[in-house]
Amino acid sequence: MNALAATSRNFRHASRLLGLDSKVEKSLLIPFREIKVECTIPKDDGTLVSYVGFRVQHDNARGPMKGGIRYHPEVDPDEVNALAQLMTWKSAVADIPYGGAKGGIGCNPGDLSKSELERLTRVFTQKIHDLIGVHTDVPAPDMGTNAQTMAWILDEYSKFHGHSPAVVTGKPIVSAKDCHAQDLGGSLGREAATGRGVVFATEALLAEHGKSIKDLTFAIQGFGNVGSWAAKLIHERGGKVIAVSDVTGAVKNPNGIDIPELLRHKETTGSLKDFQGAESMDANELLIHKCDVLIPCALGGVLNRENAADVKAKFIIEAANHPTDPEADEILAKKGVVVLPDIYANSGGVTVSYFEWVQNIQGFMWDEQQVNNTLQNYMTRAFHNIKSMCQTHDCNLRMGAFTLGVSRVARATLLRGWEA
Ligand code: GLU
Repeated sequence: MNALAATSRNFRHASRLLGLDSKVEKSLLIPFREIKVECTIPKDDGTLVSYVGFRVQHDNARGPMKGGIRYHPEVDPDEVNALAQLMTWKSAVADIPYGGAKGGIGCNPGDLSKSELERLTRVFTQKIHDLIGVHTDVPAPDMGTNAQTMAWILDEYSKFHGHSPAVVTGKPIVSAKDCHAQDLGGSLGREAATGRGVVFATEALLAEHGKSIKDLTFAIQGFGNVGSWAAKLIHERGGKVIAVSDVTGAVKNPNGIDIPELLRHKETTGSLKDFQGAESMDANELLIHKCDVLIPCALGGVLNRENAADVKAKFIIEAANHPTDPEADEILAKKGVVVLPDIYANSGGVTVSYFEWVQNIQGFMWDEQQVNNTLQNYMTRAFHNIKSMCQTHDCNLRMGAFTLGVSRVARATLLRGWEA
């Protein structure tokens, strides 16, 4: 099932549980604005190349629209639309004052040089600069983009509107040895935030089941920003990470992988291949590998009707956006697998984006401890809010999170009213 059909199906299910009026339901489903722009740049060799860039602004009832910009060959309008919608519910679940948006360019960033990426980012920003803004729509990094991309967006945007650090989040900070200089208004703790939030969410869920990270085995699909931070923090807490995969391959070690060593190996070789501390394995097998906790941290739709019946994990933590197809959800529920949904599990990134935006607006910087502690409070509070929706509506965690997010957005929408 495609991402938009899957997300809309979950939304409609939540809307039914909440008894939403069909007109409100319809207005929440249709995006506020969909932007599609042509981005042509000269390549380093002088030839021209054209890409299509998207920004879907889904809803702004609770505040400025917020969400990442993804550079990936599979970016398409339906996918961006689904991801924008998920951002609306995610921000509401976290109870941060944002709506949802998402953007992307259908390109393979690995095929572009740094200067080509810079040109592409600047052209895209020129095309959308009057539709984003500190109090309208605030982009952030996603797959294939990073703090450098955000610095280029900030610079290009500032040419039109003056210096506005709060127009994007996930901006660069200088490393610890340089005393954490926040030259462009990046926040300490933002880079690790999604992975750290995943770990706080996992702790909240496991505590409910009388378990803790140190007693369990983990399989992690994806070793980019989110997967590598989650793996590192789980390893630090004594959890046994027994399998890891990324686009270059997969590795397993039943005694636990030395994650700091694997990170060093990936940093020096750019790949998981030939890592001495583990055996290589089939990357598709990772999803059905025997483990206690499976954490998908990569693309959407990876758990589907083809493989869901073979999943052996007891818990799935959705660090990726929409990794589980609704058909897989049904199969996993029958097997008794507990799925912690994306709109909660990976909300640490946008939550610390909010802290970054707040710091920029205040012109005051928090230390890393304050960022991490506040993030933990937000993650724990959201988990308890979800649990209480599960009780009220007698539903699973996904519907607990959806009913929580959708009810908050619906309430804001109704309070605002529709009078023209
Ligand atoms: N791209 C991240 C997400 O999907 C972060 C978005 C943000 O910080 O605005 O949640």
